[in-house]
Amino acid sequence: MKNADVLVIGAGAAGLMAAYTLAKVGKKVTVLEACNRTGGRIRTIDDTMFFKHAELGAEFVHGNLPITLQLLREAGIAYHPAGGEMWQYKDGEFTKDAGMIEGWDLLMKKLDELQADITLQKFLDKYFADKRFDALKDSVIRYANGYDTSDPARVSALALRREWQNEDEDAQYRIEGGYCKLISYLTDVCKEYGGSIYLNAPVSQVTWQAGTVKATTVDGESYEAKQVIFAIPLGVWQAPQTVKGYINFLPPITEQTTALNKLGFGAIIKVLLQFDEIFWENTSMQKQDGNLEDMAFLFTDEAIPTWWTQAPEHQPLLTGWLGGAAAAKQVDTPAEKILQQSLQSLSNVFNISAEALKGKLIAWHVANWTADPYIYGSYAYDTLDTAAALTTLKQPVANTLYFAGEFMYQGTAMGTVEAALTSGLDTAKQLLKL
Ligand SMILES: Cc1cc2nc3c(=O)[nH]c(=O)nc-3n(C[C@H](O)[C@H](O)[C@H](O)COP(=O)(O)OP(=O)(O)OC[C@H]3O[C@@H](n4cnc5c(N)ncnc54)[C@H](O)[C@@H]3O)c2cc1C
Repeated sequence: MKNADVLVIGAGAAGLMAAYTLAKVGKKVTVLEACNRTGGRIRTIDDTMFFKHAELGAEFVHGNLPITLQLLREAGIAYHPAGGEMWQYKDGEFTKDAGMIEGWDLLMKKLDELQADITLQKFLDKYFADKRFDALKDSVIRYANGYDTSDPARVSALALRREWQNEDEDAQYRIEGGYCKLISYLTDVCKEYGGSIYLNAPVSQVTWQAGTVKATTVDGESYEAKQVIFAIPLGVWQAPQTVKGYINFLPPITEQTTALNKLGFGAIIKVLLQFDEIFWENTSMQKQDGNLEDMAFLFTDEAIPTWWTQAPEHQPLLTGWLGGAAAAKQVDTPAEKILQQSLQSLSNVFNISAEALKGKLIAWHVANWTADPYIYGSYAYDTLDTAAALTTLKQPVANTLYFAGEFMYQGTAMGTVEAALTSGLDTAKQLLKL
């Protein structure tokens, strides 16, 4: 039996931020992580087949986000602006700055008028019922699915309003060397201050009473502490008892489990395709607004609809993105089949055969996060029940069991690394009664 002041379960951004904060003030912290690596949904791959580091999970710093940028500065990790032109491919034509949602201003006006919260689907059915709004409805649902990875029948219209009103498309950054640098920094500081991090340690049972907790991993090892912070993904909390990662509580925490099940969690597939050349910059396809040399994002109607480059850097890496219901349906689809869908999607857009594109491939990676054991999805979205559920979860159980994770965050950067870091910090401070 190993003892600590505080156990942290899950070594993603939230768990490590909590551990880092607690270790720095002298708490004896033990972090238990199910996988053989830290980072969770942050996973930078450093494949020699790829030119540079590539991100299978989090990639952008979405705005001037205080905790993330402060940590990067503190750690001396550089970051640089990301982005370039937004293109759309529709009906055989490329259009620049088309915007992802046709009729955005009207949508925001109607959202502004909304008093009581309803789901996005109900909002669209109520205010945009007329046939002439079909294209607008279609774009909004695609966006809510694709970017927020949410279910329109469950996602809160007011939460989307808050997020969309606060979007700052001009401030997007990438971290030099990848997001894993931030994870390494938190891990190193935590260890420097005496914290222990155990990998390959999936917790399967937690026995607790006020002031004492015992976590047992699948291999039967036990760890005891006065308090515990659970920093596992919502996908694991909502998963059935039979899957990897499931934690059995003795005694059960029924109220918290019910609250956790009321939150929304999406699905995502991210595809990385490394080609032998930046073929899209040389395409002879019809374009009304110049060439694709500075293309950052490309929005299409294809099976894998959203693509982005490494702009402003010119690299032959294309990243594909499929979110929401369409990604959830493909949870069991083999990676090779998703690769094929990706190549076919690009083939339809660039008028190059899928075989020819395959011939140009140097390396590829499909990250089907919904199928990933210990994650089971993308990130959280607000439902109509989120506020009430988070009120429950923000109350520690008997000052002994605490919850952290991106899903606990209530701000404008939902579903991000910032959300996870903020939650880890807040939970550590709550435990320390700061
Ligand atoms: C494809 C993708 C792209 C993204 N892109 C961006 C982006 O560009 N920018 C951005 O800011 N955010 C992005 N995000 C979101 C961001 O990655 C997450 O919000 C954030 O990393 C979540 O951190 P977390 O600590 O809450 O959870 P996680 O990172 O999921 O960490 C939880 C940890 O708990 C572990 N665990 C699970 N069960 C157990 C158990 N029983 N015992 C022990 N350990 C367990 C898991 O293995 C995992 O390591 C993206 C996410 C995905 C999936």
